[in-house]
Amino acid sequence: MNTLCRNFVTKTKWTCIAKIQCLPVRIPACSAINQHGTLLYVQFRYNFRVYPTPGQQIELARAFGCARVVFNDALRLRQQAREQGLPYISDVNLSKQVITQAKRTEARAWLGEVSAVVLQQALADLNTAYRNFFASVTGKRKGRKVAPPRFRSRKDNRQAIRFTKNSRFKVLDNGRLRLPKIGDLAVRWSRPLPSDPSSVAIIRDASGRYFASFVVQTTDEPLPKTDSQVGIDLGLTHFAVMSDGTKIAAPKFLRRAARKLKRLQQDLSRKQKGSANRKKAVKKVARAHARVADTRRDWQHKLSTAIIRDNQAVYVEDLCVVGLGRTRLAKSVHDAGWASFTGMLEYKAARYGRIFGRVDRWFPSTRMCSQCGRINGKMALNVRSWDCPCGATHDRDLNAAINVLAAGQADKSNDRGAHVRPGLVPAARGEAVTHPDAACSTRSVEGISVL
Ligand SMILES: [Zn+2]
Repeated sequence: MNTLCRNFVTKTKWTCIAKIQCLPVRIPACSAINQHGTLLYVQFRYNFRVYPTPGQQIELARAFGCARVVFNDALRLRQQAREQGLPYISDVNLSKQVITQAKRTEARAWLGEVSAVVLQQALADLNTAYRNFFASVTGKRKGRKVAPPRFRSRKDNRQAIRFTKNSRFKVLDNGRLRLPKIGDLAVRWSRPLPSDPSSVAIIRDASGRYFASFVVQTTDEPLPKTDSQVGIDLGLTHFAVMSDGTKIAAPKFLRRAARKLKRLQQDLSRKQKGSANRKKAVKKVARAHARVADTRRDWQHKLSTAIIRDNQAVYVEDLCVVGLGRTRLAKSVHDAGWASFTGMLEYKAARYGRIFGRVDRWFPSTRMCSQCGRINGKMALNVRSWDCPCGATHDRDLNAAINVLAAGQADKSNDRGAHVRPGLVPAARGEAVTHPDAACSTRSVEGISVL
């Protein structure tokens, strides 16, 4: 249930990706599951580019600012209470202090100029941040440790506000999006919304683009069953090698744009601090980076959709991206974007009735012979093919992909989307630093194919 209950992030038409941005925003209670473990409905994000007029941009900036002030005021109050040894301020109390009462003071009277829902939603964000932090501290939340909430800054590149149903935002018949106290925004609808949205967030990104991100509830759409199953080995020489022998070249979007980015960065560094030209240069750099990210996401969506459509079950190795991001290969690892890719496979599998499984990252997929099962010694990264004492000759990545498939199929718990732990190399996740084969270790990057 947990694995299925990820944040389902989606985007619009594959072809006009530059208009769309996927946002890693967590949606609580994003799916419902019946007693057979099947997904009944999911919440998706539908993102569209919006084009506010200069006047609307000013109103939006005001709303971003008010939401930020409320968030920061609330955070400050809770921090002060903690320093003074007072009890944790309840959500209701906090809302009274930083919204209702603050509006009556001279210093915060301008809070009344924006929709109250925007302010309440800023507080809701803070409460979620606190809940996640507490859950992480007490160990209820798995994964990386969550830091306590931080203050928002006027200089943050990404600004966002959220409107819920009770703010009475509305998609008008003429295709405009009506937001309280902001106006009717022009939206570039790249596809229709499947149902009535329950909330909408307005986001301004680093390159100055505006997006409307709707949360919409839809049912899953199982695809007709097929027999094929696939294991995928993710790497750097090839982005993916599949157990059926297909190799997908790494597109290296960031590397390709490197020359242009370098020039823009140089331009930026020569501008005087605080000047208008510097601001322009900052925007240019942000735009170039956004373009790289958009292209990568588009490419990944196409590939993940094709893989999910053609296979009933998909298994990948659970790579430690955070760890690898600290190695010499960091730039290439982040350029590859494995985590967002496997995330796409996961939610698409859930949506289209496919099986998705991650194979434990300590599973020796590279070193194990896929024919006799013998685990051989460590291999240097430049070894592309090797011979097993049993007589088999293996392509390094293809062998790994076949092993990933076998390990995924062996674990029946995968049917519910659980993680595979083949037990061949029993090592706890917490041993990331001490495990000799740790893919996370800075010394070794075994299992990751690089030249
Ligand atoms: Zn062998």
